[in-house]
Amino acid sequence: MKITFLGTGTSQGIPIIGSQHPVCLSKNPKDKRLRVSVLVEWEDYTYVIDCGPDFRYQMLRAECNKIDGILFTHEHSDHVLGFDDIRPFYYKQGDIPIYAHKRVLKELRKRFDYVFETENKYPGAPTVITNKIKNKPFKLKNLEVIPVSGKHAELQVFGFRFNDFAYLTDMKTLKEKEVDKIKNVKVLVVNALRVEPHRSHFNLEEALKFIKKVNPEIAYLTHISHLLGFHEEVEKTLPENVFLAYDGLQITI
Ligand SMILES: [Zn+2]
Repeated sequence: MKITFLGTGTSQGIPIIGSQHPVCLSKNPKDKRLRVSVLVEWEDYTYVIDCGPDFRYQMLRAECNKIDGILFTHEHSDHVLGFDDIRPFYYKQGDIPIYAHKRVLKELRKRFDYVFETENKYPGAPTVITNKIKNKPFKLKNLEVIPVSGKHAELQVFGFRFNDFAYLTDMKTLKEKEVDKIKNVKVLVVNALRVEPHRSHFNLEEALKFIKKVNPEIAYLTHISHLLGFHEEVEKTLPENVFLAYDGLQITI
């Protein structure tokens, strides 16, 4: 299984438009973060988790020419606003399967009503095949995916486990029985926004505590804000099996 980090930044991305913060001005490419998303590939299959405002550029940058579906963690703008840019895939492949909580599907219908239109549909609008995710395992081709439910402040969010890989973003609290689903996973990706606490995201300390509890072989932090600091400097302070993800990073599991 191959994982490509398409974006590792928080909702505004890094740099933030107009910001003079030193991390936003950094020349290190690892300090430049598009909105959070990953590509999950195995055999001939390619799935994307989330479809934020940078989706088009992320697909071009990763040279991704085919997708078998999109999984959504939740409905916030930094995770859904690229939805219209599934058009090139739709034109080539036909209806695109999407997987999300029914609440997220409802929100997509509201924001992108023309995609779901059945009468007098605008020519050129894409069509999707909706799949509701409940909090129980489901199949993607020959692979079982285990949803992991958590809370982003008050909002329910799904993370996903694919065999030895688990991807969680925008988490703040998880029940023990959800954490049990990913204990001892080989590779864990989890959000770590910044050093200071935040109402709806793990800060660095909470993410590290969570990683300890899950006990993966290796962990990567994502959904990073400029307030976490410079990539090179933060990474020096992390435990030996924890790394900051960065845009373009690829791992094979
Ligand atoms: Zn987010």
